Formats: sequence, C-alpha cells, structure tokens
Amino acid sequence: MSRINVSLVLICFFSFIITSHSKSTYTEFDDDDEDATIKTMHQFSGYPPSNPDHYHSLSSLSLLVDSLSLQKQIDELATFSDSPLPAVTRVLYTDMDVAGRRYIKNLMGLAGLSVREDAIGNIFGRWDGYEPELAAVGTGSHTDAIPYSGKYDGVVGVLGAIEAINVLKKAGFKPKRSLEVIMFTSEEPTRFGISCLGSRLLAGSETLEKALMNTFDSQNVSFLDAAKSAGYTRDNDDLSSVLLKNGFYSGFVELHIEQGPILEAEGIPIGVVTAIAAPASIKVDFEGVGGHAGAALMPSRNDAGLAAAELALAVEKHVLDSGSIDTVGTVGILDLHPRAVNSIPSKAHLEIDTRDINETRRNEVVEKIHQSAIDIAKKRRVKLSGFEIVNQDPPALADSNIIKAMEASSSELNLNYKLMVSRAYHDSLFMARVSPMGMIFIPCYKGYSHKPEEYAAPEDLVNGVKVLALTLAKLSLS
Ligand SMILES: [Zn+2]
Repeated sequence: MSRINVSLVLICFFSFIITSHSKSTYTEFDDDDEDATIKTMHQFSGYPPSNPDHYHSLSSLSLLVDSLSLQKQIDELATFSDSPLPAVTRVLYTDMDVAGRRYIKNLMGLAGLSVREDAIGNIFGRWDGYEPELAAVGTGSHTDAIPYSGKYDGVVGVLGAIEAINVLKKAGFKPKRSLEVIMFTSEEPTRFGISCLGSRLLAGSETLEKALMNTFDSQNVSFLDAAKSAGYTRDNDDLSSVLLKNGFYSGFVELHIEQGPILEAEGIPIGVVTAIAAPASIKVDFEGVGGHAGAALMPSRNDAGLAAAELALAVEKHVLDSGSIDTVGTVGILDLHPRAVNSIPSKAHLEIDTRDINETRRNEVVEKIHQSAIDIAKKRRVKLSGFEIVNQDPPALADSNIIKAMEASSSELNLNYKLMVSRAYHDSLFMARVSPMGMIFIPCYKGYSHKPEEYAAPEDLVNGVKVLALTLAKLSLS
C-alpha cells in the first residue's frame, strides 16, 4: 500500500478521535481555569521562552476537532436559505443573510471571542494574545451563497476557523499575537455585481468606496439602503472606516474547499496554495455596416460579427502562445446586433475573461488582444468602437513564511499535501494586498461547487481545521 493510501486509512480511522503526535498527552483546560489563561505555548510545551525551538514544539499539541459539532453547524447554517435544502441561497443583506450572521456571531461568542462588526458588516471575532499590541493573525472566509449553491463554499473557512480556535483553546494553547476570525461580507457578486466586496473594501479601495455610494441591485435598492436594512452603514459617510491599516494583520490564512477535482482525484488531503490567479476582464465593441444577407455581396461587407469571431479565435491563440498551462482566456459573451438570421451583423459585443498567476504574462495577453482588435477592425473595415478593460486585478502570491507554516503543519500532522494554484479567486486575493497571505484547500466531492451537490467529507474537514489550527498557532508565535 502506498504511503498516501496508508495515511488515508489512518485518517479515516482516527478522524473522529484525535490525530497528533502520539507522544503528547491531551490535557483539557477549563476556560475558567487560571492555569489555562496564563499558560503560554512554551510553558505548555516545556521549552523555555528563549528557546527558538518552541516554535517547532507545537507538534506536541493535541488537536481535538469536534467533527460532529462542526458538521451540525454546517447543516444548521445551511437552513438559513431562500431555497429548499440541499440547495442554499443566501444573498447579501437579506433576512437569511442577517440570520446567518447572527448565528456566526453567536458561535464566536461561545468560543470566547470578542465580536465586532464594521460599517458594511465584515464580522471579526478576536482572541487576544498575550502580546495584544502586536499585529494579529487573521483567518476567515465568507458565508454568502449564490442562488441554488451548496453549504460548504466559504462556510468551511468561517465555521472551520471558529472550530480551530476552539481546538487551540482545548489544547491549552495561548497565542502571542491575537487571532482573529473574519466573516467577510459578500464574496459572491450576486446582489450588487461586485465580488469580494468586504475584503476589497478592507484592502482599501477608495474607488470602490465611492462606487458603493451609487450602487443599486436589480430591484433598484441602493447598496446603502440594503446595508441599513441589515443594521449597517447607519452613517452614509463612514465607509472609509472599513479600510484596514496596512500591518493590522501579520498574516492571513483562509481555509476553503478546493472547488476543483485535483485533491480528491489524487487522494491528497491538503492543498497548500502558492498563488491565486486573478482575472482581467475586457469588453469589446465592433461596429460595421448591416445589410441584407442576400443582397449585400461578400467583397463589400463590413461584418462586425465576423470581426468578433476572429477576435474570439485570437484570444485563444494568444493564451496558448504564452506556453503556460496557467494562462487561460474565455470569451463568455458574444452578442450580435440586430441578431436576425438574414441580416449582416452591424454591431458585435464581446466580453473576455483572461487569467494567469503571472501578472506580466497576463498583461501581455491583454495587450495582444487589444492589438488584434485594432488589426482585425482595420482588415475587416469595421470600427473598434469600444475596448474597455473592466478590471485587471493583480494575481496574489502566497507568502513564503505562511507556505512554510502550512507545509510544516501538514507534515507534523502526518498529512500529505500538494502545492497548488487557486484558479478561482477568494477573499484572500484582496487580503494579500494588506497582509502576507496563505490558503489551505481540502478536497471536495468531484470538485463540485456552486451547486447543491457540493460536499466535503467529515475527515477532510477535520484535517483542514487541524492544519489551520496549527498554522495559526505557528504564525501567532512568530
Ligand atoms: Zn468561496
């Protein structure tokens, strides 16, 4: 049996009990116990504070994940939904979102965290370290869910983070840097068309701050009114208070289901994310001359539709020419006008998404697409009436020290791991702008996400929470 298989069997066998180094003794400290509140990691592990080895002694912590409670919480949170189970629909600032928020704040309180919320409803639960003036270590994700999606996307990174805190408390760990669990507002763009709204604003986008003052949903409800109805933005001008000071967090780690099939297919319990690819999106418009599909002869045509078709193929060519598997490009929208079978398209509209983990290479692709649009318009005697780069977010690299902490944590827990790129983007993409960042992936069934079949096995959740807990402990002491 391969090493992976052996460890998988062991994981399954022990997942509901304990996994840690067997030489350690599990000691439960009561929350009221004086000893627990004053005990620091080095005291707990027996290493003197001056010994740098105490950072490595964390492997002797007994990490006891309450798998049944965690699953119960995931199931309970899923009931706050505007669609019948197993489908979950929880859209920003709706009654169900507000109920879900209340549920999360309650769990944070039960974990002994001090809870605060900012003006747009990012929720923070803080466990003060014994050097609380140091920059804190953050962890978290989102709990909003697009219509008819599943119950694990984002949720695992919030409920799992609260459970990681519980695990560390039970193990008698005392953080040096404070630990903060964050529930980000609206990672999904469902209601206002802006993805990662909470983390984007935390990371300090003044453009977004201004845009939010004038943003409406499809029912013409303004962002500010919607936020008010959920109990936020009581003062219209206070959005700047959301922006995080650079250096507020010394590190940020997000636990998330992979949303892809790789870990499950390869039988690997943990993914250590090294980079998050970020999209650029582009809108292109061509204007030609319409006419009768029978009467206008081919040499005299100025067909905007064919220009669009040629550009779509050019996008594919430029992406493939990069020579990297990490470069991707998609023409997801191609509209023709007047859209009649017997009419030559006089207008064409394309929307292009291109992503890469290498920003220079991604930007080169964007530039080549622009050049092709110009050349094609000239060749086909149509007008390039619009070329708008809608967004061009830089990709984010995970911090090398956090990667090391995640790798060491996985190894110390005897969990196989794989270094991988996140092709979907997450709140971590924006947190990386204001903090060193890392992400931990766990396998999910067939890579399904954003649909009711989304599923992560209890043993994978346990593994993810343990790696998160140990990583947080390491970063807290660093
Ligand atoms: Zn997510």
